[in-house]
Amino acid sequence: MNKLPISDFVVSDGEVNQYYIKLKKQVESSGYHLNPDVEFTKSLLKSIILNDKRYGYESCPCRLAGNDKAEDLDIICPCYYRDPDLDDYGTCYCGLYISSEIFNGKKKLKPIPERRPSPEDREKLKMESTTGILSSSSIPVWRCKVCGYLCARDEPPEICPICTAEKERFEQFN
Ligand code: SF4
Repeated sequence: MNKLPISDFVVSDGEVNQYYIKLKKQVESSGYHLNPDVEFTKSLLKSIILNDKRYGYESCPCRLAGNDKAEDLDIICPCYYRDPDLDDYGTCYCGLYISSEIFNGKKKLKPIPERRPSPEDREKLKMESTTGILSSSSIPVWRCKVCGYLCARDEPPEICPICTAEKERFEQFN
């Protein structure tokens, strides 16, 4: 665990710009959208790089990391909550990613609540999954009929992260 104070870590503008260019290309090719406010987006990326230097993983810029990768797997960017938040609110919790509808001006942003369970609830969920209370078959599995990508979630994603096929091209697999 890294105990050094945050002031010991420096992120240069060059690092942020490089990261921004790489991520934008990657995000656009998979059908997602970064927030078009470049300065805001870069400020979030700067925090992600800082978190990576500080903790050793790219944890969410707007959540408090616990300095324990195994405990924070769900909030390594892009977090587990991004897609459901994009579906329900048109943005991820930090506003780094936005939906096509927001990007194209068809919808306006609205306040977004924190979807990450509390530490107590995360602990409970961990216990339930290790004791088999949560059956994997309780969550629907969706298959992209274009490329075969599988994901387990309540609804299929708006866009396949692999081949960018749209939601209606997913079928329920289980
Ligand atoms: S809320 Fe957004 S910025 Fe934060 S980890 Fe999730 S996807 Fe990344």
